[in-house]
Amino acid sequence: MSDERTYPLEKTRNFGIIAHIDAGKTTVSERILFYTGMSHKIGEVHEGETVTDWMEQERERGITITAAAVSCTWVPTYRLAQISADTDADQRRKIAEESGFRFNIIDTPGHIDFTAEVKRSLRVLDGAVVVFDGVSGVEPQSETNWRYADEGGVPRLCFINKLDRMGASFEFSYASILDRLTKSAVRYQIPIGLEEKFEGVIDLLHMKAFWFEGDKGSVVREGEIPTEYKAEAEKFHHELVEKISETDDELTSDYLEGKEISVERLRPALRRAVIANKLVPVLCGSALKNKGVQLVLDAVVDYLPGPLDIPPIKAVDESTGELVERPASDDAPFAALAFKLQADPFVGQLTFFRVYSGTLEAGSYAYNPRTRNKERIGRIVRLHANEREEVKKVFAGEIAATVGLKDTKTSDTLCDPDHSVILEQIIFPEPVISMRIEPKTKVDQEKMGIALKKLSDEDPTFRVSSDQETMETIISGMGELHLEILVDRMKREFNVEATTGKPQVAYKETITSTADVEGKYIKQSGGRGQYGHVRLRLKPLEEQKELNAKQKKAMKNVTREEGFEFINAIKGGVVPNEYIPAVEKGVREGMARGVIAGFPMTNISIELYDGSYHEVDSNEMAFKMAGSMAFQDGAKMAKPVLLEPIMLVEVITPEKFMGDVTGNLSSKRASIESMEDRANGIKVIRAKVPLGEMFGYMTSLRSMTEGRANFTMTPSNYEIVPQNVSTAIIESRK
Ligand code: GDP
Repeated sequence: MSDERTYPLEKTRNFGIIAHIDAGKTTVSERILFYTGMSHKIGEVHEGETVTDWMEQERERGITITAAAVSCTWVPTYRLAQISADTDADQRRKIAEESGFRFNIIDTPGHIDFTAEVKRSLRVLDGAVVVFDGVSGVEPQSETNWRYADEGGVPRLCFINKLDRMGASFEFSYASILDRLTKSAVRYQIPIGLEEKFEGVIDLLHMKAFWFEGDKGSVVREGEIPTEYKAEAEKFHHELVEKISETDDELTSDYLEGKEISVERLRPALRRAVIANKLVPVLCGSALKNKGVQLVLDAVVDYLPGPLDIPPIKAVDESTGELVERPASDDAPFAALAFKLQADPFVGQLTFFRVYSGTLEAGSYAYNPRTRNKERIGRIVRLHANEREEVKKVFAGEIAATVGLKDTKTSDTLCDPDHSVILEQIIFPEPVISMRIEPKTKVDQEKMGIALKKLSDEDPTFRVSSDQETMETIISGMGELHLEILVDRMKREFNVEATTGKPQVAYKETITSTADVEGKYIKQSGGRGQYGHVRLRLKPLEEQKELNAKQKKAMKNVTREEGFEFINAIKGGVVPNEYIPAVEKGVREGMARGVIAGFPMTNISIELYDGSYHEVDSNEMAFKMAGSMAFQDGAKMAKPVLLEPIMLVEVITPEKFMGDVTGNLSSKRASIESMEDRANGIKVIRAKVPLGEMFGYMTSLRSMTEGRANFTMTPSNYEIVPQNVSTAIIESRK
């Protein structure tokens, strides 16, 4: 176990593979791990041992590709090509050391119901390879994921996969990327042959052809561009050079003057353009037929950013409330983001984290500002395709996992206890659907509680609550499928069988005005009494991201969470410190059951500014009651309203059903955002529609369009329910 950095920061790439289900993400990942495994082995293979021997072992052991982050090593193809059967072990080791790159591949989910997962993974990766099916090109879900990557400003490469398939077309897929995703896409490669005649790729920057030979295509053979492709390659080469030149002032003028621009100048310019999101190179191949994947890895090295190429992460200093930066440097104070909790069959619960700055050593402590506690860091591991490597120390820009953290959730910051910061948080969408859940047998009640807690710690868009009146457990999430999967996991991983109710829209309540209220819980009739007395100010919580100067100073006295803020503004101990957490607890209980129809309340700021106590009769219970009563009274005064989840709905339909589809959407209180034309008379309608109107939409859309239209739906935001609708919802709750 070494405690020194094995790969310098500039030789680190944290990236993800983003794909529509079935585009070939698993196959691509599997090939990547295979080739990188081989490339890693190059430095270790001993004299007389062949790489093929190692491949045999590899096949037997199988490859892990489901971890949240897998680490591997890549030696670029041109360097690998310098190794032959005669290269001695020292020479090989030298090549591996000089040109090896550490890749951390971050898993991104394929399914649209898991927006949280997508957002979370995009947050920790620096760049992405987006995989497309070379027959269907861009599919609706690729568009959604592309937009998330746009929001996060993630630099990308495209890989058009499956060019060996019947009906595959590089040009069709490339056009669909240009048309539907980005005008910044540019051909970086073109295929040699297609379908069963697909044999290799042409690199349009270096103007070389590549074929993939040997076991699993592991030998990359470079050669001249075949004559019949020369003219086409020339044309696209010029287009590529022109597009690269346009992104760089110096190159622009040379280009306009007709000067020859060398590859040595073009490559770094393309790298800058990709990192600045000005260009997206499009590559191609067939993962299944072992063609092209190694060149994608070379492109990851050449064009995707390393941790030093991205701006330092922003954080809020816990003691001053100031916005600070944490640079990707080993010497800066430690700050990391826990981005995924995952159960590992061999070592238990793993918490994956990305170190943004500083270093972390096994056996030390890290501070979690959310819980305000230190966590002991037991073992630190890095997951490889076929082993868990135990590491002593992790460095800035690296990704690893730790075992046995007690109370760290997804999206928590871990940091240096003496330099405590809260990293820019991942903002997750609010759950939109909820349902009752009940264990099949009473014995399972406790087990179900434990399982639900674990699952909700892992997944911030999955929440568990209990209905205080009926005592039922309610689970909420992002869609029916999301909840189904979690219930299924509970059964498989925790052995708890449960029955669930019908899915319901997760309405919420909020206030639209302010209120100043008093809450008293006083009972003094002989013996020891009860005395709790508070004054609260309630106001709508508009924008949560920015703290004002006063709040920043008072940061220690503020609890802030999504949709909730509790400010302790008590002066002179009129409410003793020991009772303040009880008041907050009471307020939270009050918020859990809204004043209109019992839905949880959100987006409220509560300031505790006055009150009084009694030497003998005051206790936590009394202050909790006072807090809860005051909150509920205040909420009634502050013009409460119902909120409903609004979904972003995208319908893809043949043109002749346009009228029916939009008419039907309008009857669902939809607001149409855009209508676009696609090739072959296909229309795409984007609309925002209240979720409450969308149950059963699949069936009605199908029958309206002879089964030819399709749709996707993602949560967008919450909006106030119109009066007439709200009355009906309140009625149905009674
Ligand atoms: P994922 O759902 O994106 O992880 O996709 P998979 O990697 O599981 O691939 C889906 C299907 O496509 C599988 O049957 C693969 O064997 C197949 N597939 C993947 N890559 C290729 C390819 O390059 N060519 C062909 N013909 N099939 C492929």
